[in-house]
Amino acid sequence: MHNRPEHGTVYLVGAGPGDPDLITAGGLRLLRHAEVVVFDRLVHPDLLDCIRMDAERIYAGKAPGKHSMPQEAINRILIDRARQCRSVVRLKGGDPFVFGRGGEECLALAEANIPFQVIPGISSAIAAPAFSGIPVTHRNISPAFTVVTGHSCTPSRSPDWNALARVGTLVILMGLGRLDWIVGQLIGAGLNPETPAAIIESAATQNQRTVSGTLRTIGLLSLGCTAPATIVIGEVVSLHSRITWFNKGPVSSDRALHDSFVYNQPPTASVLL
Ligand code: SAH
Repeated sequence: MHNRPEHGTVYLVGAGPGDPDLITAGGLRLLRHAEVVVFDRLVHPDLLDCIRMDAERIYAGKAPGKHSMPQEAINRILIDRARQCRSVVRLKGGDPFVFGRGGEECLALAEANIPFQVIPGISSAIAAPAFSGIPVTHRNISPAFTVVTGHSCTPSRSPDWNALARVGTLVILMGLGRLDWIVGQLIGAGLNPETPAAIIESAATQNQRTVSGTLRTIGLLSLGCTAPATIVIGEVVSLHSRITWFNKGPVSSDRALHDSFVYNQPPTASVLL
Protein backbone atom coordinates (compact mmCIF):
# COMPACT_ATOMS: atom_id res chain seq x y z
CA MET A 1 0.00 0.00 0.00
CA HIS A 2 1.26 3.48 -0.92
CA ASN A 3 4.68 2.32 -2.07
CA ARG A 4 5.53 5.26 -4.29
CA PRO A 5 3.37 8.28 -4.92
CA GLU A 6 2.01 8.72 -8.45
CA HIS A 7 2.66 11.85 -10.42
CA GLY A 8 -0.22 14.26 -10.45
CA THR A 9 -1.89 12.77 -7.38
CA VAL A 10 -2.54 14.63 -4.13
CA TYR A 11 -2.21 12.60 -0.90
CA LEU A 12 -3.87 14.01 2.19
CA VAL A 13 -1.71 12.51 4.92
CA GLY A 14 -2.45 12.63 8.64
CA ALA A 15 0.74 13.25 10.63
CA GLY A 16 -0.73 12.40 14.04
CA PRO A 17 -0.25 14.75 17.00
CA GLY A 18 3.00 15.60 18.77
CA ASP A 19 5.53 12.78 18.41
CA PRO A 20 6.60 12.25 14.77
CA ASP A 21 6.42 8.47 15.37
CA LEU A 22 2.65 8.74 15.26
CA ILE A 23 2.46 9.08 11.46
CA THR A 24 1.44 5.83 9.70
CA ALA A 25 4.02 3.77 7.79
CA GLY A 26 2.15 4.50 4.55
CA GLY A 27 2.00 8.22 5.23
CA LEU A 28 5.73 8.36 5.97
CA ARG A 29 6.59 6.45 2.79
CA LEU A 30 4.56 8.89 0.67
CA LEU A 31 6.11 11.86 2.46
CA ARG A 32 9.64 10.65 1.78
CA HIS A 33 9.01 10.34 -1.95
CA ALA A 34 6.78 13.39 -2.52
CA GLU A 35 7.83 16.09 -4.97
CA VAL A 36 5.76 18.77 -3.25
CA VAL A 37 4.81 18.89 0.45
CA VAL A 38 2.24 21.37 1.73
CA PHE A 39 2.27 21.30 5.53
CA ASP A 40 0.57 22.82 8.57
CA ARG A 41 1.78 24.43 11.76
CA LEU A 42 1.27 21.51 14.13
CA VAL A 43 3.37 19.11 12.03
CA HIS A 44 6.54 18.03 13.89
CA PRO A 45 9.79 19.41 12.33
CA ASP A 46 11.41 15.95 12.38
CA LEU A 47 8.85 14.82 9.83
CA LEU A 48 9.96 17.62 7.52
CA ASP A 49 13.55 16.34 7.77
CA CYS A 50 12.58 13.26 5.82
CA ILE A 51 11.26 15.18 2.82
CA ARG A 52 13.43 14.89 -0.32
CA MET A 53 16.04 17.65 -0.66
CA ASP A 54 14.74 18.55 -4.11
CA ALA A 55 11.09 18.63 -3.08
CA GLU A 56 9.18 21.89 -2.90
CA ARG A 57 8.06 22.68 0.67
CA ILE A 58 5.11 24.98 1.16
CA TYR A 59 4.09 26.15 4.62
CA ALA A 60 0.34 26.64 4.79
CA GLY A 61 0.05 27.33 8.52
CA LYS A 62 -0.14 30.49 10.51
CA ALA A 63 3.07 32.48 11.05
CA PRO A 64 3.32 34.31 14.41
CA GLY A 65 1.23 37.47 14.18
CA LYS A 66 0.03 36.66 10.66
CA HIS A 67 -3.09 35.11 9.21
CA SER A 68 -2.90 31.58 7.90
CA MET A 69 -3.04 30.98 4.17
CA PRO A 70 -6.68 31.20 3.03
CA GLN A 71 -8.23 27.80 2.26
CA GLU A 72 -8.86 28.79 -1.38
CA ALA A 73 -5.15 29.57 -1.84
CA ILE A 74 -4.20 26.16 -0.42
CA ASN A 75 -6.69 24.45 -2.75
CA ARG A 76 -5.24 26.34 -5.71
CA ILE A 77 -1.67 25.29 -4.84
CA LEU A 78 -2.68 21.62 -4.56
CA ILE A 79 -4.49 21.71 -7.93
CA ASP A 80 -1.72 23.69 -9.62
CA ARG A 81 1.13 21.40 -8.46
CA ALA A 82 -0.82 18.25 -9.36
CA ARG A 83 -1.48 19.69 -12.83
CA GLN A 84 2.28 20.08 -13.19
CA CYS A 85 2.30 16.29 -12.87
CA ARG A 86 4.05 16.33 -9.54
CA SER A 87 3.23 14.08 -6.59
CA VAL A 88 1.86 16.21 -3.80
CA VAL A 89 1.58 15.37 -0.11
CA ARG A 90 -0.75 17.57 1.91
CA LEU A 91 0.48 16.91 5.45
CA LYS A 92 -1.88 17.75 8.29
CA GLY A 93 -1.67 17.40 12.07
CA GLY A 94 -3.68 14.53 13.54
CA ASP A 95 -6.24 13.20 11.09
CA PRO A 96 -7.02 15.19 7.92
CA PHE A 97 -10.80 14.86 8.38
CA VAL A 98 -11.01 15.74 12.09
CA PHE A 99 -11.32 19.53 12.14
CA GLY A 100 -8.60 19.62 9.49
CA ARG A 101 -10.60 20.95 6.51
CA GLY A 102 -9.48 17.86 4.61
CA GLY A 103 -13.00 17.36 3.26
CA GLU A 104 -12.96 20.82 1.69
CA GLU A 105 -9.66 20.09 -0.01
CA CYS A 106 -10.98 16.78 -1.37
CA LEU A 107 -14.08 18.51 -2.75
CA ALA A 108 -11.92 21.12 -4.51
CA LEU A 109 -9.67 18.39 -5.96
CA ALA A 110 -12.66 16.32 -7.11
CA GLU A 111 -14.15 19.35 -8.82
CA ALA A 112 -10.85 19.98 -10.62
CA ASN A 113 -10.62 16.29 -11.64
CA ILE A 114 -7.37 15.77 -9.73
CA PRO A 115 -6.84 12.24 -8.38
CA PHE A 116 -6.38 12.15 -4.61
CA GLN A 117 -6.07 9.68 -1.74
CA VAL A 118 -6.61 10.09 1.98
CA ILE A 119 -4.19 8.49 4.44
CA PRO A 120 -5.88 8.79 7.84
CA GLY A 121 -3.89 9.86 10.86
CA ILE A 122 -4.16 9.38 14.59
CA SER A 123 -6.32 12.20 15.86
CA SER A 124 -5.40 14.12 18.98
CA ALA A 125 -9.02 13.44 20.00
CA ILE A 126 -7.96 9.91 20.99
CA ALA A 127 -4.16 10.24 21.21
CA ALA A 128 -4.08 13.10 23.73
CA PRO A 129 -6.29 11.22 26.21
CA ALA A 130 -4.33 8.01 25.54
CA PHE A 131 -0.99 9.70 26.26
CA SER A 132 -2.50 11.00 29.46
CA GLY A 133 -3.71 7.56 30.57
CA ILE A 134 -7.38 8.29 29.86
CA PRO A 135 -9.20 5.63 27.81
CA VAL A 136 -11.99 7.43 25.94
CA THR A 137 -14.24 4.38 26.41
CA HIS A 138 -14.15 1.96 29.33
CA ARG A 139 -16.38 -0.98 30.18
CA ASN A 140 -19.01 -0.06 32.77
CA ILE A 141 -17.86 3.58 32.77
CA SER A 142 -18.33 5.04 29.31
CA PRO A 143 -19.80 3.24 26.29
CA ALA A 144 -19.32 6.19 23.90
CA PHE A 145 -17.27 9.27 23.22
CA THR A 146 -18.07 12.38 21.26
CA VAL A 147 -15.58 14.77 19.69
CA VAL A 148 -16.61 18.38 19.40
CA THR A 149 -14.87 21.63 18.49
CA GLY A 150 -14.96 24.52 20.93
CA HIS A 151 -13.92 26.87 18.18
CA SER A 152 -17.27 27.66 16.60
CA CYS A 153 -19.12 27.70 19.91
CA THR A 154 -21.13 30.87 19.94
CA PRO A 155 -24.66 31.22 21.21
CA SER A 156 -25.92 31.40 17.61
CA ARG A 157 -23.80 28.56 16.17
CA SER A 158 -23.47 25.92 18.82
CA PRO A 159 -23.81 22.16 19.09
CA ASP A 160 -26.69 20.70 21.08
CA TRP A 161 -25.18 20.72 24.58
CA ASN A 162 -28.26 19.04 26.03
CA ALA A 163 -27.49 16.05 23.82
CA LEU A 164 -23.73 16.24 24.35
CA ALA A 165 -24.16 16.22 28.13
CA ARG A 166 -25.64 12.72 27.84
CA VAL A 167 -23.29 10.86 25.51
CA GLY A 168 -20.55 9.52 27.79
CA THR A 169 -17.05 10.94 27.34
CA LEU A 170 -16.82 14.38 25.76
CA VAL A 171 -13.59 15.32 23.97
CA ILE A 172 -13.24 18.98 23.03
CA LEU A 173 -10.64 20.24 20.55
CA MET A 174 -9.80 23.94 20.17
CA GLY A 175 -11.77 24.54 23.36
CA LEU A 176 -9.45 26.50 25.65
CA GLY A 177 -10.70 29.92 24.61
CA ARG A 178 -14.39 29.11 25.19
CA LEU A 179 -14.16 26.62 28.02
CA ASP A 180 -16.02 28.76 30.56
CA TRP A 181 -18.93 29.15 28.21
CA ILE A 182 -18.94 25.43 27.30
CA VAL A 183 -18.89 24.43 30.99
CA GLY A 184 -21.85 26.75 31.62
CA GLN A 185 -23.78 25.09 28.80
CA LEU A 186 -23.03 21.58 30.06
CA ILE A 187 -23.97 22.35 33.67
CA GLY A 188 -27.08 24.13 32.41
CA ALA A 189 -27.91 20.97 30.44
CA GLY A 190 -27.80 18.93 33.63
CA LEU A 191 -24.27 17.48 33.65
CA ASN A 192 -23.07 16.97 37.22
CA PRO A 193 -20.56 19.76 38.11
CA GLU A 194 -18.48 17.13 39.94
CA THR A 195 -17.89 15.17 36.70
CA PRO A 196 -14.11 14.63 36.32
CA ALA A 197 -12.45 16.78 33.65
CA ALA A 198 -8.91 17.13 32.31
CA ILE A 199 -6.90 19.30 29.97
CA ILE A 200 -3.99 17.70 28.13
CA GLU A 201 -1.50 20.21 26.74
CA SER A 202 0.99 19.39 23.96
CA ALA A 203 0.24 15.67 24.10
CA ALA A 204 2.94 13.25 22.96
CA THR A 205 5.71 15.85 23.27
CA GLN A 206 8.33 16.61 25.91
CA ASN A 207 6.03 19.43 27.08
CA GLN A 208 2.99 17.27 27.71
CA ARG A 209 1.09 18.30 30.82
CA THR A 210 -2.24 17.14 32.22
CA VAL A 211 -4.32 19.36 34.45
CA SER A 212 -7.28 17.60 36.04
CA GLY A 213 -10.22 18.69 38.15
CA THR A 214 -13.96 18.63 37.76
CA LEU A 215 -16.40 20.29 35.39
CA ARG A 216 -16.88 22.97 38.06
CA THR A 217 -13.15 23.77 38.41
CA ILE A 218 -11.81 23.11 34.92
CA GLY A 219 -12.61 26.60 33.58
CA LEU A 220 -10.45 28.20 36.25
CA LEU A 221 -7.71 25.58 35.83
CA SER A 222 -7.62 26.27 32.08
CA LEU A 223 -6.37 29.82 32.69
CA GLY A 224 -2.84 28.49 33.14
CA CYS A 225 -2.99 26.27 30.05
CA THR A 226 -1.65 26.84 26.56
CA ALA A 227 -2.64 25.48 23.16
CA PRO A 228 -2.60 22.98 21.62
CA ALA A 229 -4.73 21.33 24.26
CA THR A 230 -7.42 18.65 24.31
CA ILE A 231 -10.14 18.73 26.96
CA VAL A 232 -11.77 15.54 28.23
CA ILE A 233 -14.92 15.54 30.36
CA GLY A 234 -16.34 12.34 31.82
CA GLU A 235 -15.95 9.61 34.41
CA VAL A 236 -13.07 8.02 32.44
CA VAL A 237 -10.86 10.93 33.54
CA SER A 238 -10.79 9.37 37.02
CA LEU A 239 -8.69 6.51 35.57
CA HIS A 240 -5.89 8.94 34.65
CA SER A 241 -3.88 8.66 37.88
CA ARG A 242 -3.84 4.85 37.71
CA ILE A 243 -3.10 4.52 33.98
CA THR A 244 -0.50 7.29 33.58
CA TRP A 245 2.32 5.77 31.57
CA PHE A 246 3.94 8.40 29.34
CA ASN A 247 7.34 9.37 30.67
CA LYS A 248 8.11 11.72 27.77
CA GLY A 249 10.71 9.49 26.15
CA PRO A 250 10.45 8.31 22.53
CA VAL A 251 7.20 6.53 21.83
CA SER A 252 8.85 3.44 20.33
CA SER A 253 10.39 1.22 22.97
CA ASP A 254 13.00 0.02 20.51
CA ARG A 255 13.93 2.82 18.16
CA ALA A 256 16.48 0.73 16.23
CA LEU A 257 13.93 -1.93 15.37
CA HIS A 258 11.46 0.76 14.42
CA ASP A 259 13.98 2.48 12.15
CA SER A 260 14.82 -0.70 10.31
CA PHE A 261 11.12 -1.26 9.66
CA VAL A 262 10.12 2.21 8.53
CA TYR A 263 13.28 3.39 6.83
CA ASN A 264 14.33 0.21 5.08
CA GLN A 265 14.25 1.68 1.56
CA PRO A 266 16.08 4.98 1.62
CA PRO A 267 15.38 7.03 -1.51
CA THR A 268 18.41 8.58 -3.19
CA ALA A 269 17.70 12.23 -2.48
CA SER A 270 16.39 12.33 1.03
CA VAL A 271 17.61 13.01 4.51
CA LEU A 272 17.09 10.16 6.89
CA LEU A 273 15.77 10.79 10.36
N1 SAH B 1 -6.81 17.30 12.74
C1 SAH B 1 -6.33 17.44 14.09
C2 SAH B 1 -7.09 18.51 14.85
C3 SAH B 1 -6.90 19.89 14.29
S1 SAH B 1 -7.67 21.10 15.29
C4 SAH B 1 -6.41 16.10 14.81
O1 SAH B 1 -7.06 15.16 14.31
O2 SAH B 1 -5.77 15.95 15.85
C5 SAH B 1 -6.33 21.55 16.37
C6 SAH B 1 -6.67 21.10 17.78
O3 SAH B 1 -6.26 19.75 17.98
C7 SAH B 1 -5.94 21.87 18.85
O4 SAH B 1 -6.56 23.10 19.14
C8 SAH B 1 -6.05 20.90 20.02
O5 SAH B 1 -7.34 20.92 20.59
C9 SAH B 1 -5.86 19.57 19.31
N2 SAH B 1 -4.43 19.17 19.33
C10 SAH B 1 -3.60 19.11 18.28
N3 SAH B 1 -2.38 18.67 18.66
C11 SAH B 1 -2.45 18.44 19.98
C12 SAH B 1 -1.54 17.98 20.97
N4 SAH B 1 -0.28 17.66 20.65
N5 SAH B 1 -1.96 17.88 22.25
C13 SAH B 1 -3.22 18.18 22.59
N6 SAH B 1 -4.13 18.60 21.71
C14 SAH B 1 -3.76 18.74 20.43
